[in-house]
This record gives sequence, C-alpha cells and structure tokens, in this order.
Amino acid sequence: MKGRNAVVTGSTSGIGLAIARSLAAEGCNVMLNGFGEPAQIEMVRREMAETTGCTIGYSGADMGRPEEVRALIAAAQNTLGTVDILINNAGVQHVAPLVAFPEDKWDLLLAVNLSAAFHATKAVMPAMLARGFGRVVNIASALGLVGAPHKPAYVATKHGLIGLTRSVALEVAQGGVTCNVVCPGMVMTPIIEMQVADQARVTGLPPEEVVREVFLENQPIRRPVKAEEIAAAVVFLCSEAAAGITGTVLSVDGGYTAR
Ligand code: NAD
Repeated sequence: MKGRNAVVTGSTSGIGLAIARSLAAEGCNVMLNGFGEPAQIEMVRREMAETTGCTIGYSGADMGRPEEVRALIAAAQNTLGTVDILINNAGVQHVAPLVAFPEDKWDLLLAVNLSAAFHATKAVMPAMLARGFGRVVNIASALGLVGAPHKPAYVATKHGLIGLTRSVALEVAQGGVTCNVVCPGMVMTPIIEMQVADQARVTGLPPEEVVREVFLENQPIRRPVKAEEIAAAVVFLCSEAAAGITGTVLSVDGGYTAR
C-alpha cells in the first residue's frame, strides 16, 4: 500500500482518525478532513507526517455540502495526486422520537451520512477506473443492518450506505475497483460520549452504568470495539490481498448483529 493516496472523510476524531493513522502507518499519503480546533488538527497532521514520512494534508470541507465534497476530492488530487483509496467515514447522529424528529436534522443526517458518500465516490471514480485500481470503503454501522428506536435518520442513512456500496461494487467490478462497507458496533468516541451524557442526564444513572446497561447490552463481547479494530478491517479491505472482496458488508460489531 506504500505510496497510495487516501482520502478519509471525518478523520479529525474517533474512527476516522484511527483509519487515517493506520493507512499512513502502511505508507499511504492521506488527506484528513473534519471539524475541530485548527491548532489541534495541525498538530495531529504534522505528527502523522513526521512519524510516517508520508504526505498528510487537511481540508475542513463540510461533507453536508455537495460542492465542498467535490472540493475535498479536488484538493486531495492537487495535494497528493490521484485518489486510490476513499474512506467515506464522516457521520453525525441525532436521537429523538419520530414524531418529534426535527426536519433539519433529517436533512443533515442524509447529507453527511449518505449523500456525501455518493458525491465523493462519483468524484473519485473516473480516475480510479482510468488507472484500473481503487478502493472505496464506506463506514456504516450495526444500525445499517438492524433498526433502533429514536434513530430514524441514522438507521435509514446507514442502511442506505449498504445499498450504495452494493450498487457501486457491481457497477465497477471489472475495473479493478472494489467497494465495501464496514459496520462497526459501539466504539467509544465523541459521537457516543455525547449520547452517554444525554442518557445519564435523562435516567440519572452514572455514565459507566449507562455504557454497561444501555450501550453494551446488545454487544455480546461486553466491551466497546476499539477504533483500531475498525481501522484494521479497513486497511485489509484496502490491501492488494482484498482484491477479490467487493460488495461485502463486514461487521466489526462484537457480535451485535449475530443474534
Ligand atoms: P466522531 O464524532 O468521533 O467523528 C466524526 C467525524 O466526522 C469527526 O472528525 C467530525 O469532525 C466529522 N464530521 C462531522 N460532521 C462533518 C461534516 N459535516 N463534514 C466533515 N466532517 C464532519 O464519531 P465516530 O464514532 O468516529 O464516527 C465515525 C463514523 O463511524 C460515523 O459514520 C459513525 O456513524 C460511524 N459509527 C460509529 C459508531 C460508534 O459507536 N462510535 C458505531 C457505528 C458506526
């Protein structure tokens, strides 16, 4: 994988950052993306570049805006060269009962969690097909395979990502490009920490109990999956060894969907 060029959306935090670090450790040049404190992002970017010797870029493009998704891919092509690996990871959550679910949140989740993957994949595909090599990995969720109350937009977008993955995989199967989807179980990152804090406030339970009784109840390994464990699956799917794997849904969910 040395010398490959990768874009990881939503990689300033959590799973995306772990994926970006793992790809860079394998010798990939990486375009980081996401929100956050500029000085903190620059520190991470520089540290990754220094420890790996790879080119590490950053774009703060908003994945909720199609023109910015296209600008991210253009920036990656300018900074790194042709994009060989695209990881559609950026994601947001909103939890509310259906009848109270805000319409602007529905639109936001659709844009960031699903439409961004369409726009980014569309933007990288011509060059991937022209070179006869490409790896697209979408990050869905165990909630791409099963439902959950109070998460209508999240569950819909994650199911949608699986459909997008299969459709793209079939379309480009003879062009040396694979498209797969990884479905994480619960990983302790800011997106979950916020929900734990909300639940702790509502139920009056201590956060550790909320994690144990609410979030890990359906995760048979009874511990959070590590972001590095998700990244390891993604790195494998991006490798030469995984050339025969496409259109596949790979669960890394501690058994969540095994029941
Ligand atoms: P996180 O909140 O730590 O990271 C989300 C990243 O996306 C951040 O870098 C953030 O800045 C970025 N982001 C958010 N909105 C953006 C936008 N409009 N434009 C660009 N970047 C944006 O969350 P995470 O847990 O690392 O989640 C990463 C992915 O994994 C998401 O798609 C999430 O749905 C999925 N996932 C997470 C879990 C979990 O338990 N943490 C489980 C299943 C799936």
